[in-house]
Amino acid sequence: MKNWKDLDFDLQRVISNTAIAPGSYIIKFKRNYPFFAGQVVALGVSRDIEPRYYSIASAETDELISILYSERLDGKLTPMLSLLKAGDSIMVSKPFGNYTQVKNNAVFIAAGTGIAPFMSMLLSGKAKNATLIHGASYPEYFYYSEYLSNTLGERYIRCCSRCSPGYLFVGRVTHFVKQWNGLDTSKSFYLCGSAEMVVETRYILISMGVPVTNINAEIFF
Ligand SMILES: Cc1cc2nc3c(=O)[nH]c(=O)nc-3n(C[C@H](O)[C@H](O)[C@H](O)COP(=O)(O)OP(=O)(O)OC[C@H]3O[C@@H](n4cnc5c(N)ncnc54)[C@H](O)[C@@H]3O)c2cc1C
Repeated sequence: MKNWKDLDFDLQRVISNTAIAPGSYIIKFKRNYPFFAGQVVALGVSRDIEPRYYSIASAETDELISILYSERLDGKLTPMLSLLKAGDSIMVSKPFGNYTQVKNNAVFIAAGTGIAPFMSMLLSGKAKNATLIHGASYPEYFYYSEYLSNTLGERYIRCCSRCSPGYLFVGRVTHFVKQWNGLDTSKSFYLCGSAEMVVETRYILISMGVPVTNINAEIFF
């Protein structure tokens, strides 16, 4: 992880910092630089805490940058991020990263806040006809579900690991993929989430016949 002295960053005013589910927030601030959907910014509240990276969740044309984050109670930054109020200062780096090349008919597979880069791509009008498989522990963590249901319809698949049987697939994204009859191995797959989720999903896709070159991944560490 880089240090603040190696990064080009500004102090921004927080516009809003809204709890959208228990322990999950969307923080917004002004966009000072253009970016490509899929890029990240480093955020911080003081030079004493190393920069943490966050995928931009908003559209390339939005005047505000939105960051979806979950609070780690034992983490260094997120318990402080969650306390920020409108008008407070936040350290924001220039956008960077190259998880930006997305094809039409893509299959996005995300766990938790790993949905953020895909939201930016969808809201930016990229990845036409995409399918999104999103994993979460409980229904309230299916962020942006209203927009996604309306936009993607049956191409929006929610995998809920702690739900009772009902209208959502019960289990993790990896369980869903293993039994997915509709898997089209010729498509391009984009994974985003923890290292564990990405490694396991990648392994399953390869074992189901998806060429390695069709799999792209962003790991949230
Ligand atoms: C490219 C990229 C994009 C990302 N995008 C997002 C995003 O959009 N949204 C989002 O919520 N997160 C994202 N992340 C994760 C984010 O950068 C932070 O890691 C996360 O928010 C936790 O930060 P924290 O400072 O609160 O926790 P940290 O202080 O970093 O701690 C995280 C966890 O590690 C444990 N830990 C810390 N130090 C040690 C140690 N020495 N040994 C063992 N365990 C330790 C802590 O107990 C805690 O459980 C992204 C990460 C990357 C790399």
